[in-house]
Amino acid sequence: LTPDDSLRQEISNNARVITDGEALRKAIHQERRKGRRIGLVPTMGALHEGHLSLVRAARKECDCVVVSIFVNPTQFGPQEDFRKYPRTLESDLEALAGADVRWVFVPSATQMYPEGFSTYVQPPKVASPWEGECRSGHFRGVVTVVLKLFLLAPADVAFFGQKDFQQLLVIQHMARDLNVSVDIRRCPIVREPDGLAMSSRNRYLNNVERQRALGLFHALQTVEQQVADGVRDTRGMVEAMQKTLTDAEISRIDYVTIADAETLEPIQRLDREAVALIAAFVGKTRLIDNCLLNV
Ligand code: AMP
Repeated sequence: LTPDDSLRQEISNNARVITDGEALRKAIHQERRKGRRIGLVPTMGALHEGHLSLVRAARKECDCVVVSIFVNPTQFGPQEDFRKYPRTLESDLEALAGADVRWVFVPSATQMYPEGFSTYVQPPKVASPWEGECRSGHFRGVVTVVLKLFLLAPADVAFFGQKDFQQLLVIQHMARDLNVSVDIRRCPIVREPDGLAMSSRNRYLNNVERQRALGLFHALQTVEQQVADGVRDTRGMVEAMQKTLTDAEISRIDYVTIADAETLEPIQRLDREAVALIAAFVGKTRLIDNCLLNV
C-alpha cells in the first residue's frame, strides 16, 4: 500500500484512511461542531504496543481518535536512519483495526512539505540540551511537523509517550508559547516483558544486540534502587548508570544524566522531581530510555 487516494478505505469501525489534510480538517470540524471531543495520536508508524497504549488512552478520553502516520523527513539528520526507518503501513492498519480509531491520517511527504516550503518553528529552550545537542535540527523538525499536525487535525487533546521525555517537554513548551489550544497528555512507557522500552527501532537489533539493549533498562533500575536506598547525591547514580551500560557492552553513550524534570538541567541532588535520561548506541542502533525519579 502507498499513501495515495486508493487508501481512502474503511478499515474497520468506520476508521477511514485519509491522505488529504484539508479533508481531515473538514471531517474533524464537522465532528467538533456536533460537540465531539477529538484526540490525536501522532506517530511515525511501525506501530507497537507503546503506540497502541496512546490510542487506548485517547479513546478513553475522546469520542473520535485520529492517528497520524508520517515518517517526518525534517527531524532526521543527514547521517540518520530516515531512508531505512521501517515503513509498515499495511500491518499498522491491521494493528489499528480493532482500536476504534476514526481516522488514520497518512499524508505524503510532498503534501506536508510541498515545493517551496520554507517556514520552520524555532524550538524552545528546553530543546537545547541532550537530544538537541546530539541530533542537530531534530527538534526543529519535530515542532514544525507537530504544529502542522495540530493545524490539520485540530484536536482537543494530543497524546504523547513519556518514552520521548524531552520531546514531550519541547511540544508542551511550543504549545504554550504559541497559544496552541490542544491539551498535551503524557502516557507511560510501555516495555517488553524483560524491560526493554518498546521502540520502532528495536527491530534493527540482532539477537546479541537485543540482549545488550537491556543495559539501558538495567541502568535505570540501578538508579531507582539507589533512590529507594535513600541516596540523594546524583554523581554516584550517573557513574552507576555508566558502569551498567559498559558492563552490558554498550560503549557508545551519547549521554547519561539526572536532570530536573521540568528544565532538563542536570542536578547534583535529588531535591525536586527529576528524570534519569539515557541515549546510547547498541551496535548501529541509537536507543533512548528514561525514568522519573520521585523522592
Ligand atoms: P514514534 O512513532 O516513535 O514517533 O512515536 C510516536 C509516539 O509514541 C510518541 O509520542 C512516542 O513517545 C510514543 N511511544 C513510542 N514508544 C513508546 C513506548 N514504548 N511507550 C509509550 N509511548 C511510546
